[in-house]
Amino acid sequence: MENLLLIRYGEIYLKGLNRPYFLRALVSRVREAVKGVGGRVWLKDARIYVDNITDLDECVRRVTKVFGVHSVCPAIRMDKADFAAICAQATALMQGKTGTFKVEARRSDKRYPLDSPAINAEMGGYILEHVPGLSVDVRHPDHVLSVEIRDEAYLYAEVIPAAGGMPVGTGGKAALLLSGGIDSPVAGYMIAKRGVELCAVHFYSYPYTSERAKQKVLDLARILSESCCGLRVYVVPFTDIQLQIHEKCDDEYTTLIMRRYMMRIAEAIARKEGAEALITGESVGQVASQTMTALNMTNMVVGMPVFRPLIGFDKIEIIRYAEKIGTYETSCLPYEDCCTVFTPRHPATHPKLEKILEGEAKLDQERLIEEALNGVEIIKL
Ligand code: ATP
Ligand code: MG
Repeated sequence: MENLLLIRYGEIYLKGLNRPYFLRALVSRVREAVKGVGGRVWLKDARIYVDNITDLDECVRRVTKVFGVHSVCPAIRMDKADFAAICAQATALMQGKTGTFKVEARRSDKRYPLDSPAINAEMGGYILEHVPGLSVDVRHPDHVLSVEIRDEAYLYAEVIPAAGGMPVGTGGKAALLLSGGIDSPVAGYMIAKRGVELCAVHFYSYPYTSERAKQKVLDLARILSESCCGLRVYVVPFTDIQLQIHEKCDDEYTTLIMRRYMMRIAEAIARKEGAEALITGESVGQVASQTMTALNMTNMVVGMPVFRPLIGFDKIEIIRYAEKIGTYETSCLPYEDCCTVFTPRHPATHPKLEKILEGEAKLDQERLIEEALNGVEIIKL
């Protein structure tokens, strides 16, 4: 008898000829995730298995975060020849449970002496007899005891839902503009979940924003990195650019010009990283720089797609998502962001392109961007 994890994958099922490619990626991601708490990881009969588990809770916690995993079952593997022992073990798994249950047998070994209905009946009867407080309901049971007869017998009573999505690395790479706010970590998570590898770019205006504000962003990046298989964060010094914009440009337009600079720099970093798109946490109408006109003006300066997965989300929906993925609490820590430090009182909601270009003409764009890129600090998580 041995404890192991039985892992089911989700959407990869829909793949045709290239399914093996996605499965290989998923097995690699699971292997990286269980390092230190699990042993062998292998694929067999449309399931992934992990054995030699030294810390079950931690192993489950990590595997449920791996994109591409649909659900995880802590299972027991037994010699299938000894049906009485399997029934006894099934009973032990159900001990202490109350309400209704059913046994769900799957038999891929067709030479096994009992077929699935017979296993259901015999094992169900055995459990009924030995666990007080349980009754059978095959339609809407409170508990399902699953038994799979394959090379050996596998037993489990718990199916833990996992992150879903596609394995990271199968969907290309993108650069996430990561602030310390609620939105951008959620946006990054959503795109990473589709199999996209991330790097993060953070703009930092020391001493107007503090060391603690930067630490908060790195904490958020660390939470993301658990699902994203590691993350490189580019911290870009942004103070000079903001001071120049503040000094030389029309107050109404400072936010938009600043955002255009962010996009240009993020694109330069993305290209260097081999990323093919940018990701932001913007949503239509949330603030002045996120009206449709303003979004068009920020899009204009980049030559790669900008993904805005939150574009149609309400704030409350974003907050719920952030809670689910574990970034909300950190995002709520009260440290200032570079955007908030220099916020004008009346940012333009219907900006005119001529005005933006007029403002930008007063800045030495090439030098400012080059200096910012030269000052980048790269932190690997
Ligand atoms: P968030 O909650 O993510 O901070 P927000 O609602 O505060 O978003 P803005 O401050 O207008 O919105 O920023 C819009 C988007 O621009 C953010 O979601 C993020 O992708 C990017 N962004 C803003 N500030 C920074 C920063 N300091 N570094 C990197 N990206 C940033
Ligand atoms: Mg913000």
